[in-house]
Amino acid sequence: MRYPIVIHPNERLMQKAIPVTMITDETITILENMYETMIAHDGIGLAAPQIGKNIQLAVIEVDEETGLFELINPEIIESKGTDVDVEGCLSIPGTYGTVERAEEVTVRYFDREGDEIEVTAYGYLARAFQHEIDHLNGELFIDKIIEPIKPEDLDAYMEEHLDD
Ligand SMILES: [Zn+2]
Repeated sequence: MRYPIVIHPNERLMQKAIPVTMITDETITILENMYETMIAHDGIGLAAPQIGKNIQLAVIEVDEETGLFELINPEIIESKGTDVDVEGCLSIPGTYGTVERAEEVTVRYFDREGDEIEVTAYGYLARAFQHEIDHLNGELFIDKIIEPIKPEDLDAYMEEHLDD
């Protein structure tokens, strides 16, 4: 099942999400539906507030190589370096811009089995973790944009920065 995506501006995108206290069948169904919703919109990440649920869940799939991450109660426990690159958001269609993020982050979260996982991510995956965890804190990338990128300039920008 696909959820409708909450579009900015909306109060639901500005709230701090509540930690998940128990992983139930419903939690797993929500994660699976969030993934289906993300894929249907060609997204690489989706956080629960974006589907109107005020809980600490997010899904990320930047590419096939790194695969799918289902995040329950994720937190960044370490970050290193800085990196500036383009971001967009399914809740803010047509808006793109460069954002400074940590180059590398270590994230601690629970998976669907309830196991505590720690993963260290680099590059665009690290960026996706930071973007989605921001959503769970009620923060949006548009408040961090350094340089706005027009949608028609996006392809050219991406090509220019492909080797970075
Ligand atoms: Zn977003």
